[in-house]
Amino acid sequence: MSKQVHSKKNKILSIDRRETLKTFAAASITTLIPTQLRSSSSSDVIIIGAGLSGLYAATILQDEGYRVRVLEADNRVGGRVLSETGIPGNPETGGTAFGSGYARIIDISNRFNIQLNDLSPVLPYFRQQQLAINGEFISLKDWPDHPSNNLPKEMRMIPPNAFFQQFLGKMNPLKSPDGWMQEENFKYDISVHDWLESQGLNQKAIDLVYNMNISHGYNAKDVSILMLMFVNSFFNSQMSLGFRTSLVAEGGNMMIPEAMANNLNQEVLFNKRVDAIKTSSNKAEVICADGSIFKADHVICSVPFSVLRTINIAPAIEGLQAEAIEELNSQKINMLHLLPKSPFWESDEMSPNMFTDGLSGLVIANRNVANPEQVHSLTVWLRGPIAEQLDLMDRQDAISTVIQSIEQLRPSSKDQLEPLAYHSWYQSPYSKGDWAYWQPGQISKFGQHVGNRHGQIHFCGEHTAVANRGMEGAMESSERVAFEVMGLA
Ligand SMILES: Cc1cc2nc3c(=O)[nH]c(=O)nc-3n(C[C@H](O)[C@H](O)[C@H](O)COP(=O)(O)OP(=O)(O)OC[C@H]3O[C@@H](n4cnc5c(N)ncnc54)[C@H](O)[C@@H]3O)c2cc1C
Repeated sequence: MSKQVHSKKNKILSIDRRETLKTFAAASITTLIPTQLRSSSSSDVIIIGAGLSGLYAATILQDEGYRVRVLEADNRVGGRVLSETGIPGNPETGGTAFGSGYARIIDISNRFNIQLNDLSPVLPYFRQQQLAINGEFISLKDWPDHPSNNLPKEMRMIPPNAFFQQFLGKMNPLKSPDGWMQEENFKYDISVHDWLESQGLNQKAIDLVYNMNISHGYNAKDVSILMLMFVNSFFNSQMSLGFRTSLVAEGGNMMIPEAMANNLNQEVLFNKRVDAIKTSSNKAEVICADGSIFKADHVICSVPFSVLRTINIAPAIEGLQAEAIEELNSQKINMLHLLPKSPFWESDEMSPNMFTDGLSGLVIANRNVANPEQVHSLTVWLRGPIAEQLDLMDRQDAISTVIQSIEQLRPSSKDQLEPLAYHSWYQSPYSKGDWAYWQPGQISKFGQHVGNRHGQIHFCGEHTAVANRGMEGAMESSERVAFEVMGLA
């Protein structure tokens, strides 16, 4: 294990490999088996970011004998995984649930003895979402003939919150999730709007099935259908492989990054905001906002591009990767957790879950897996333009605005909602949004370049994943960069 010495200038100087080699030279030749030599003299690796991708890359490399040091700007690990452990049921403000086919997440949880809870008992409740349009609740029974339903005749029975995935699923041309990065499919790198229009949907129908309570992008014109084909193909492939349920970690999904961090030989350094990275042909240097400097053979950078564009890289990255860093944006999303003081939904006899076209966004009840009738808390998902509107307000106003919107829609909830936690991911300086969303033309232009190595700097993170989404995508990208560092890719 390498020792580290803190100099007066707060630099960390690694006792270098010459000392390690001297130790080996003094040892008997019989002890110099190749594996020992390789692991003891292997590269130091600095990893920027203690989210899932950074920590998993650190875990793999440490397992291979590398000395790794993780630098984190925030005062906690997890990045976009953030469990509200102070709230009953530990609701998630970030990465919420994962499929039973998320092999890497499941493997690492098993390794660290993290119990995973099967959400099957609560999924039927989750799917019951009260539809509210123009301030009116519409039952599934009334939906096909309702005046707000402007879908083509043969599609009118499908509720808007289920429509898009069903419709796309039937005609998704991708043969496998990674097909979105193959040139033969770049013809689909057009807007969701143009694609839906080519399928016969008019503007009103597009507003209903895509723009209402949007999950990817800001509106149907600024997101590529090819990205949505990837999302759809990923979930469908999980289903067709038989992975039909969702899981969460007991105690909150934060348990997973925390366990990886705790396993590291060198502790994660917090409040280390990296401002600059320099690379030569065989070394790299990282400079933090507090003036500390870290040197290594390799640097792995896991921050989203919305944040990376604020980090100075020398020599500068050029070409398509540079354009990607500047232009690939992240989803705006805010999360509000509420405590229901009473089960107000019992009095109006509707599900507590709501899918709305207003500032109430999407409301989901967090239920007890062992007793699904029991609701611990409500989480309001506020995405795209709703998040943008709320981000213009101060925190308290934003929370009150959402609560008032729910109360107006649903009088039974009046004075029954106590705010417990609120988080804007776009306003978080180290995230600047949630999942990367690809605009029309971006995938074909620079999709294959986002993960390019730049000198001794390697890039990972959910936004560089090719075959998996979300948390599993983040972990997929860690394997790629670990292989790069090991010289295997
Ligand atoms: C509301 C929400 C719901 C989600 N739901 C799901 C879901 O149900 N299923 C799913 O699979 N995924 C979901 N996700 C997505 C998933 O959480 C992310 O894709 C994944 O956690 C991203 O991991 P990452 O390592 O790529 O990035 P991050 O977690 O963002 O890690 C990057 C790290 O870098 C740090 N950092 C940033 N800048 C600097 C700097 N200058 N210096 C040092 N450190 C820095 C950050 O603080 C952070 O810790 C959700 C995300 C959100 C926000």
